[in-house]
Amino acid sequence: MVVTGVVLVAMALAVVVLAPRVLTRSAWTIDRPRTALLAWSLAVVVGVVGFVLGIAFVVLADGPLSDPFAIGDSPTHGFNVGVAVLAVVAFVVAVRVRPGSEHRAVREAMRQGAAPHREIDGTLVAVVEADHALACAVPGRSGGVLVSSGLAARLQTDELEAVVAHERAHLQQHHAAVVAVAESIERAVPWVPGARAMARSTRVLVEFAADDAAARRVGREAVRRAVLVADATSALAAIRASRLT
Ligand SMILES: [Zn+2]
Repeated sequence: MVVTGVVLVAMALAVVVLAPRVLTRSAWTIDRPRTALLAWSLAVVVGVVGFVLGIAFVVLADGPLSDPFAIGDSPTHGFNVGVAVLAVVAFVVAVRVRPGSEHRAVREAMRQGAAPHREIDGTLVAVVEADHALACAVPGRSGGVLVSSGLAARLQTDELEAVVAHERAHLQQHHAAVVAVAESIERAVPWVPGARAMARSTRVLVEFAADDAAARRVGREAVRRAVLVADATSALAAIRASRLT
């Protein structure tokens, strides 16, 4: 039991240390963002499950299997198990997903019909009056895609379709949840070396994945132009545009 536990913890630690190094230094992640996102998820599952199971094995090892909690035999055993269970519960609570409050406000506005909206390819697209370039995906049953009038005015038709296809991909591939989980883990265990790298990578990889989905729909060139119109200044937009050429 103790050996199994130690092996599991060692395996979990190896994954937590090595996965961020491999995944942040591999060029293939730029071309295969969805595979990279899957690899990050696997690393989290193996890391967390391995660590929790390993600790549980070690803690339970000094009690007989027929009475794993062995409270009668060892005065500290029940306490140890309690601490382990509490630690797991604390981790789960700390890692709870917090949806963005701005999404709630936008969803409420869409539900009340505050913004004029139309359906493009089965997706609810709302246009809000604002001069600055803004496009975002609002997850949820009454969600959809939000585009500012300022951005819509600057885009050609195929570029607007590219923006809508990009935001729809965020919705269909549940990117808001993926990013929320990565950011919650970063908040819960900021001292774990890979947590910050994972949150940063996840935010970039979901943009690449959404660009790829949009490119399959409207072509890479329209997506590339739309990215540069929507965001002419950021380094991420420059990288997104260059990987689409
Ligand atoms: Zn995006």
